Amino acid sequence: MEELVQRIKEDGRVLGEGVLKVDSFVTHQVDPNLMEAIGYRFAEVFADAGITKVVTIEASGIAPALFAAKKLDVPMIFARKAKSLTMDEELLTASVYSFTKQVTSQISISRKFLSSEDKVLIIDDFLANGQAAKGLVELCQQAGANVDGIGIVIEKSFQDGRVLLEEMGMRVVSLARIASLKNGEVDFLEGDA
Ligand code: 5GP
Repeated sequence: MEELVQRIKEDGRVLGEGVLKVDSFVTHQVDPNLMEAIGYRFAEVFADAGITKVVTIEASGIAPALFAAKKLDVPMIFARKAKSLTMDEELLTASVYSFTKQVTSQISISRKFLSSEDKVLIIDDFLANGQAAKGLVELCQQAGANVDGIGIVIEKSFQDGRVLLEEMGMRVVSLARIASLKNGEVDFLEGDA
């Protein structure tokens, strides 16, 4: 997605350890126009998949997922990283090792929001080693829901996430694909959409 690639070139910053900082438009301050364009692009790509729910993980997946859900006219559900006192219903849970925080945490969604009738589009801001997306797939599978696709805003293609998800039989669509972050520079591959 050209608009996203341009924005990463302009405002993305490479940190050591293969991390891209995009806190001025995705992960902290959020550009609503760009998020809308991203969400709508995912909705376009998956328009014929019969999606009934868009699932993401808090916090940075929420903005693109919400716009995709709006365009597809279905609910958006975000998995929570911390259990809230108000989550007194039965929960779907999975363990996720966080690439950026380097800790394992439990993510959860109330069982009442997903069922075997659902066809799910998973959306996340980054794909690195695939642990967050894999955790979301596991939550959907616990509910018997079908995962019809995974939409990623920024894929770091030099890490193992895509391979892991494709080996699980998932269709992965990334709007920006990064080949390398070496020498403080961002090298792109052709994005999927
Ligand atoms: P994974 O689970 O695929 O290893 O990592 C994906 C999660 O880690 C994303 O939800 C995102 O929050 C975070 N993440 C991974 N790599 C990066 C990165 O280079 N920059 C930022 N800002 N977040 C990242």
